[in-house]
Amino acid sequence: MIGRAVMAVDVGLRLRAVTENMKMATSRRSAALPDVTPRLVAVGKTKPAALMIEAYCHGQRHFGENYVQELVEKAADSQILSVCPDIKWHFIGHLQKNNVNKLIGAPNLFMIETIDSIKLADKVNQSWQKKQAAQRLKVMVQVNTSEEDNKHGLSVEETVDTVRHILSNCPCLEFVGLMTIGRYGYDLSQGPNPDFQIEVGATNVRVGSTIFGERTYPNKTGTDEASKEAGEPAEIAGRVTAKAP
Ligand SMILES: *Cc1c(COP(=O)(O)O)cnc(C)c1O
Repeated sequence: MIGRAVMAVDVGLRLRAVTENMKMATSRRSAALPDVTPRLVAVGKTKPAALMIEAYCHGQRHFGENYVQELVEKAADSQILSVCPDIKWHFIGHLQKNNVNKLIGAPNLFMIETIDSIKLADKVNQSWQKKQAAQRLKVMVQVNTSEEDNKHGLSVEETVDTVRHILSNCPCLEFVGLMTIGRYGYDLSQGPNPDFQIEVGATNVRVGSTIFGERTYPNKTGTDEASKEAGEPAEIAGRVTAKAP
């Protein structure tokens, strides 16, 4: 008898392949760039905690989620807590101020990659302060380098002010770099997408479906709103680059 379709994704094998590709890409970097091995952030949105645990058991430590609720649930999952004590969560989605306290409450939150306003930085700083953690919270500032209107992230000019603000007014935050939001659907006949070349010095690389398999979203009937909710966020394109400050 044939059982139900088994999840046939070999997470360990896929992790090795992605790591190998990253190594090859970074070996093509100009010698003028710092010799930094990029950190792989495994993006598990919509995927069950079991797959995250499997990746952890293959040595993966950094995991990214783009919805607050999903990160909070997975971070507090009892199995993840017991099997993955050294897990490091990255929040990679658009963060609204009214969700900050909830996110900050998640165990093992390591970094917020998407600070896109001074007000948000202040709110995160306050919330982290209340937690009285031993360490500062790492943050990246999100820059909309492709300057598309539908994407979150600061213009290049606003970025300077925001980074300066964090450095001088947010003592509970540790500014670690810039997250750039690239153009998705770039016409590759024009050459490689300039927003997605890890050869140019990315130190933080986010990869999801290549590790965990294609995402299947529940087939919500109907409204535009529902399909928008279930679909990919605009920031999906921001998966690649963070440059060292
Ligand atoms: C889903 C997601 C990724 C990973 O995308 P894949 O196509 O699954 O590799 C990266 N960054 C963000 C912000 C995402 O939401």
